[in-house]
Amino acid sequence: MADVLGGLTRTHYCGSLREAQVGSTVTLMGWAATRRDLGGVIFVDLRDREGICQVVARPEVSKEAHGQADHVRSEYVLAVVGKVAARSPETVNPKIPTGQVEVLAERILILSAARTPPFPIEDEVNTAEEIRLEYRYLDLRRPRMHRNIKLRHQMTMEIRRHLDEQGYYEIETPFLTKSTPEGARDYLVPSRVHHGHFYALPQSPQIFKQILMVAGMDKYFQIARCFRDEDLRADRQPEFTQVDVEMSFPRVQSIVDLIEPLYQRVMKLIGVEVARPFPRLRWSEAMERYGSDKPDLRFGMPITDVTEEMRELGLDTFPGLIAEGARARAIVLPAAGQVSGTRMRKINEELWLGRIVPDARGAKRNLFTLKSTDEAVSSLGKKGAREDVARRMLEKAGAGRDDTLLVGVDQPGPLAMAMGILRLEMGRELRLVEESAHRFLWVTDFPLFEKDAGSGRWTSVNHPFTAPHDEDIPLLDTDPGRVRAKAYDIVLNGTEVGGGSIRIHDSELQAKIFKILSLTDEETRDRFGFFLEALQYGTPPHGGIALGVDRMAMILAGESSLRDVIAFPKTASATDLMSGSPSPVREEQLRELGILVIRK
Ligand code: ASP
Repeated sequence: MADVLGGLTRTHYCGSLREAQVGSTVTLMGWAATRRDLGGVIFVDLRDREGICQVVARPEVSKEAHGQADHVRSEYVLAVVGKVAARSPETVNPKIPTGQVEVLAERILILSAARTPPFPIEDEVNTAEEIRLEYRYLDLRRPRMHRNIKLRHQMTMEIRRHLDEQGYYEIETPFLTKSTPEGARDYLVPSRVHHGHFYALPQSPQIFKQILMVAGMDKYFQIARCFRDEDLRADRQPEFTQVDVEMSFPRVQSIVDLIEPLYQRVMKLIGVEVARPFPRLRWSEAMERYGSDKPDLRFGMPITDVTEEMRELGLDTFPGLIAEGARARAIVLPAAGQVSGTRMRKINEELWLGRIVPDARGAKRNLFTLKSTDEAVSSLGKKGAREDVARRMLEKAGAGRDDTLLVGVDQPGPLAMAMGILRLEMGRELRLVEESAHRFLWVTDFPLFEKDAGSGRWTSVNHPFTAPHDEDIPLLDTDPGRVRAKAYDIVLNGTEVGGGSIRIHDSELQAKIFKILSLTDEETRDRFGFFLEALQYGTPPHGGIALGVDRMAMILAGESSLRDVIAFPKTASATDLMSGSPSPVREEQLRELGILVIRK
């Protein structure tokens, strides 16, 4: 039987003891991290949330306490009463903050025994992640996880303070609701009362936050859980958290003015100062210059359009390809880089696999390289290319002496992507990325629609409530693909950390957008009728944003897995290994819900 706590009250956290407490009697409570019996004297390292402190049980101080210490094993929960003493100089432990002191035990209570944990509770674990997740309570006991969870708490508190100071109300919206189209599959919850009817868990609070604007709430935020049933990649969770924000009567600048200081405050938590304003790129510029809608600005290596030069150069099949609509874009590899010919060929194969263009000698390529030296240029001349154009191209792309110019030639869409990947790979490979930097950036003016490759239908790039640019509205009828959205993403170090838009506040325009998205009148009425109706009762212009909390916490904590900053995460197959969910349910429950399960 365990001891009872009785009238004991904790006076200090284990991790908080310092020399200032020497001489005072303290009561600590925590877990036995280690126990060492040095023949007569027993040392117990006692751990709690704030750290570790050494407890010493000597029979001459207390026979009873010493006797109890003898029974202590790893992860037992103890209460210790004793006097804080300064350690002798040779026993000081400079590695821990409490290393100057120890507690001489007068009483030890064993409040709870513990089974031997399946892995040691320390930061360096080699245990398989499945085991860590199955025993998540033990995994979370590790100091590093404590630090991550604390940092996440500090972050959300800082965000709450900021938004509160700016006049935002924190408002909860329902989990049991109707589908919100964010482009993923819904998690459905069957209704017991209405058989065959289902709630959808929200992919985001989007529709509700817009309705809160119709309701005159003016400024809303929520640290909201979102549910998206997607095939999981390493950096995704089926349920995730975002700071969801909406405001009435905004301009894009109003959103920027709210969010930039928010990130400044958050980054201060890890001692990083970021300067405002954050740089901004239009989506089309980002695609051209960085081949990505979330460029990593921790290194340069911008992409330069050299279509004209490649045409005039008159080499191989390139002019012909360009005549057929291909573009040519270049990056410059610094001379110091030393990328081998084999590597170049490999890159060419990887990037353009399946989209390969035969060249004059029957080999296949659409990557062209040119070293910035007189010899390389004149040898190009001998192949019949124009040397003056080669020089002009090197200069335009900013190649210095001995640098290497890498030119890709392809149709604009695939070329942008390929060059973006190439830039990232080369940046990493040549160690140009300033790893410790934090580079924020806004990407604006996304296209409103993109064509779904399979069905050939228009789909929303963001979500269907995003407003088009006013001057692009006529294009909705003639050329939807060219309509720009009042949408913006915020990017940090090549990762999208948030995104939002100014919304449509006119029900007719909203209905038109649903039409372009190929929704029938009936589907629109079924899914969004209530929303379109709400828009008809006096809707203020409004807009907002959502910021990823998990990803931000991961970046702040310097972790590489989202699971290390979420207390109870799911695996890549969307299971919770600790509770064992999802799991079958009783027949009776299914019957109540009117559900028949088809077993595979
Ligand atoms: N609802 C959007 C999302 O979850 C964000 C927004 O438009 O505010 O991505």
